[in-house]
Amino acid sequence: MRFVPITLKHSAAKVDRRSAVRSMLLIFAAVVIAVTGMVFTALDRVGHYANQLDEERSRESVSGALLTFQRQLAATLHDYAAWDDAADNVYRLSGLGWARRNFGAMTEKNELFDVAIIVDHAGRVVFGYAEGQPVTERFEDYITPDVRSLLEQTRAAGEGLLPEATSFTRTARGTAAFGVGLIRMKSGARVAPPDEGRYVIFMRHLTGPTIERLASAYVLPGLRIEEPQEHRSHRVDILSPSGRAIGALSWEPRSPGNVSLAQVRPLVWCAVAMVAIYFVLLFVSGSQALARLAADEEAAIKLSLTDRLSGLPNRTGLFSDLSELVADAQKSRRDVALLYLDLDGFKEVNDAYGHATGDELIRAVSAGLSALVGEKAVLARLGGDEFAIGFLSRTAEADAAQLAERVMEFLGAPLSMGDRIAVVGCSIGIACSPLGTVPGEEVLRRADMAMYRAKEEGRGRWSAYSPAMDAEREERNRLEVDLRQAIERQEISVAFQPVVEAQHMRLSGVEALARWTRPGHGPVRPDVFIPIAESTGLIDQLGLCVLRTACEALRDWPELTLAVNISPGQFRDPAFAERVAEVFEQTEMDPARVTLEMTETYFIQNPARARDTLGRLKKTGVNIALDDFGAGFSSVGYLRQFGFDRMKIDRSLVAAADLGGRAVDMLQATVALARSLDIPVTAEGVETDAQAVALRIAGCDQLQGFLFGKPVPIAEIARLRGLEEPLFRLSGSA
Ligand code: C2E
Ligand code: CA
Ligand code: CA
Repeated sequence: MRFVPITLKHSAAKVDRRSAVRSMLLIFAAVVIAVTGMVFTALDRVGHYANQLDEERSRESVSGALLTFQRQLAATLHDYAAWDDAADNVYRLSGLGWARRNFGAMTEKNELFDVAIIVDHAGRVVFGYAEGQPVTERFEDYITPDVRSLLEQTRAAGEGLLPEATSFTRTARGTAAFGVGLIRMKSGARVAPPDEGRYVIFMRHLTGPTIERLASAYVLPGLRIEEPQEHRSHRVDILSPSGRAIGALSWEPRSPGNVSLAQVRPLVWCAVAMVAIYFVLLFVSGSQALARLAADEEAAIKLSLTDRLSGLPNRTGLFSDLSELVADAQKSRRDVALLYLDLDGFKEVNDAYGHATGDELIRAVSAGLSALVGEKAVLARLGGDEFAIGFLSRTAEADAAQLAERVMEFLGAPLSMGDRIAVVGCSIGIACSPLGTVPGEEVLRRADMAMYRAKEEGRGRWSAYSPAMDAEREERNRLEVDLRQAIERQEISVAFQPVVEAQHMRLSGVEALARWTRPGHGPVRPDVFIPIAESTGLIDQLGLCVLRTACEALRDWPELTLAVNISPGQFRDPAFAERVAEVFEQTEMDPARVTLEMTETYFIQNPARARDTLGRLKKTGVNIALDDFGAGFSSVGYLRQFGFDRMKIDRSLVAAADLGGRAVDMLQATVALARSLDIPVTAEGVETDAQAVALRIAGCDQLQGFLFGKPVPIAEIARLRGLEEPLFRLSGSA
């Protein structure tokens, strides 16, 4: 036999969880990145703003420095140009010596001006000095077009206007502030007509030391003079009188924003790292908790699908495994086979040895079956003593039958449970789902039904499902509905079979037997409807109904005894004894005339409870008979053990007596044994003279059977009791 492995899929939930964890991780990462980005953008803005502020302040300082530089020169120029001594000397040839000393020589190492040139109104140089040295040629190096334009402006300054002007220019020695002023009296009065005026030109170059001084005075690090063609960003242009940039002062920006940023950045990175670490830790612990939860959930699911006692899947577990088998079968075009097992002798073991041993038995059977079916089939315990085996196969029916044989062989052999050994045996139902066309639950139902059939057919066998079983089940269900109705409508009648005393063969009593004529179907045999009543719980009502009817019928015939059958199922009602007593009371029946007949099955199954119920029943004064003795496992031991008042020998034993020999010996021994215990014996199913004779000789004090009369309506019994002669006369007797 080839089983096919089953793959269980519990991974879908796991995949879901993993993707949830992944997206959580992504969200965490995105949050950290976004926060980091925002923090750094904000810092950048702050830094940029600080830089810009510093830039503006520096620009203002540089502009201010240039303006002050120019104004200083303007003040100096004014002092020298509007000076009475100068006005007196500069216009005279003889005064030029004075002028050279006071203007020219002053250009040496002077903080205020480093070039001084005297020109006439036409711009012709009278003399010129630079850095204390006379300038002899190349005056154009100093008298630049810018200078000429201011000279022109000054010369043109009309009455009342200051004949002085300052600006910047580029000379051969570099960029310089310069000024042009008419030499005049301090009062402003001119000493010569306008076209004979003389002018002083002062220049102050922006030399290295000068710029250094400015830099330190205005706190401008890296301040330097730039060529006009250079283009640095941090600069203030120096403009000529015409507004042309002739150079610039540039400086090293301090960028305080960058400096602060540089200081803050490591701290921020630290903070970001800490947040990131926090998130990572949170994530790790979170996913650990998640994993633990998932594991718990998985364990809980597994537990809910597992049978505690055997460790096998339970009914729910089987359902889920079965639906996977069915799905697999559809995919791989195979069949699902299912075996439904019920142990035959489990109840007996449980009752005889107790639950602990019963559990032991279940474990032993589970372990044995596991080993038998192997890994590749699903083995489940459905509760109680029921198991199921499911597997995939291409030849399901044949494989299932073969497996059923092996299981029965295994369970037919003695099993050891601790220090005990028992043979339990089992009944098996088989159902298949060809190519997975029958759903799992339906396959299970079918296998269950087939198992019941196997039980009905006598246990210890297997049976395969057939659709006819469904039809029978349906018919049974309809029968049940009708029976229920019949009981409710009191349509169950009672027939009475005569019982004669063996001595004279006269009517001594009757056995009440239930009768049911099913509307539309005719009479239904008790063998059919009594088991249905038993399995559906209707037997309680039915049994009491028969008892009541029979008691009512027999009340006025005190010379007749009454036997009524009781099913084991009726013992389940804890108030059964009280109900029986109630019937006797209500029908005014003397309990001593009544014998309740019961079979031994209940006494085997529940000896303790049986003894209890029997005790309470006997207190009502009723007699108890052991029915069908010889048909099952009955032993004379029960008679004594439970205190039966009478024994009824089963028809099968009576019929066997016809054959003579050993059977007769056994019959005689059984009756003798009962009599030795002072227990009277009734023989039932007596059909022939020979049987009657043999039974009387054996010691039976009552006989019952078709030989004396079939079960009949009560009216017929009324007629029989009126008869003078015996119901039966043995041929040859008087
Ligand atoms: P049982 O208690 O063994 O009843 C005797 C059965 O044997 C009756 O069958 C009766 O008709 C049949 N019988 C009697 N004499 C002869 C004979 O000489 N030859 C043959 N072949 N049969 C004979 P019945 O009435 O069909 O009842 C069958 C069984 O149904 C009873 O077996 C009893 O177990 C059960 N039953 C009947 N009525 C009731 C009831 O009211 N309550 C319960 N619990 N069971 C009942
Ligand atoms: Ca009976
Ligand atoms: Ca019987």
